[in-house]
Amino acid sequence: MLDLNPLVKLLAEPKHIVITTHPKPDGDAMGSSLGLYNYLILKGHHVNVITPTDYPVFLQWLPNNSMVNIFTEKPEESKKLVAEADLIFCLDFNSLARIDELGEYVRKAQAKKVLIDHHLEPEGFEDFRLWTTSACATAQLVYDFIVNIMGDRELLNADIASCLYTGIMTDTGSFRYRSTTSKVHHIVADLIDCGADNTKIHQLVYDNFAENRLRFLGYVLLNKLEVLPEYNSAIIAITKKELEQFHITTGDTEGIVNYALSIQGVRLAILIIERQDIVKLSLRSTGNFPANEICKKYFGGGGHLNASGGFSSEKIETVREKFNIILPEYNDLLHK
Ligand code: 5GP
Ligand code: MN
Repeated sequence: MLDLNPLVKLLAEPKHIVITTHPKPDGDAMGSSLGLYNYLILKGHHVNVITPTDYPVFLQWLPNNSMVNIFTEKPEESKKLVAEADLIFCLDFNSLARIDELGEYVRKAQAKKVLIDHHLEPEGFEDFRLWTTSACATAQLVYDFIVNIMGDRELLNADIASCLYTGIMTDTGSFRYRSTTSKVHHIVADLIDCGADNTKIHQLVYDNFAENRLRFLGYVLLNKLEVLPEYNSAIIAITKKELEQFHITTGDTEGIVNYALSIQGVRLAILIIERQDIVKLSLRSTGNFPANEICKKYFGGGGHLNASGGFSSEKIETVREKFNIILPEYNDLLHK
């Protein structure tokens, strides 16, 4: 539903609200979720954030992080909260299949569902939708929701602003992707005016890694980076054993794919990681190259044109070899 007035009316009375987001939440998923949480509690609602899985340590400083329920750690409590909610906000994903087992409970729940998202092709499970692919981050849409739809600019405090700043900063690659319009810079300026400490937030997110993470990065770039100049592509495949060797935890592999994309001439960067029981892929591209098309067609995933992901239940070696067929298929586009 495009008309959000009925939602604004619903929010005029205290409600039981659940906010949820995608598995292995990133800066935008957590920033938008906790930004909305910190706003809705000011409005007197009873609010819970439920993430399908854990998330990186470098996001665990976000204001009211301690209030987050992780579904895999507290499944019964989370199911109860979902079943008893009046409203469920679904942030930074657009299909219930994307949030694993939690998706089934959200689908069955009595609550009205609100989608706030910027990914292509929403499934359409929601009752209310605040969605556009032109938003640089879901956090930008949460700002729009609070300021323009709810008319609550004066409620933006340092906690909300810090969360939303983090979401926009991480989803725009620190304000450099094409989605970072002048409007986004105005929003970011407003967030700083409302108390987001930009220098501190950059440090907390980007300069806060354990030593092993940096050494792992060195190992990967030296030994695991495969550059394919004939396809303007680069591939990194990391095994479970290597993750264990370097004691890699959630979030430690984030950003690695961007190093592959930063090589001169590389238009497509592919990161393949062997997780516990599945192989996960992260693709990044430049210009008009549709990284999401490859993820959708071959790896049950999707995402944005230039940043997408997917998965495979095949062996990591098989997944890597698949690109020997996929890259020639995209040869023309890789040279445009
Ligand atoms: P990342 O590579 O950082 O995990 O994900 C980049 C983007 O790809 C995400 O913002 C999301 O839009 C998309 N994405 C990642 N994994 C999946 C997946 O398994 N399914 C779908 N549909 N999208 C994904
Ligand atoms: Mn996002």
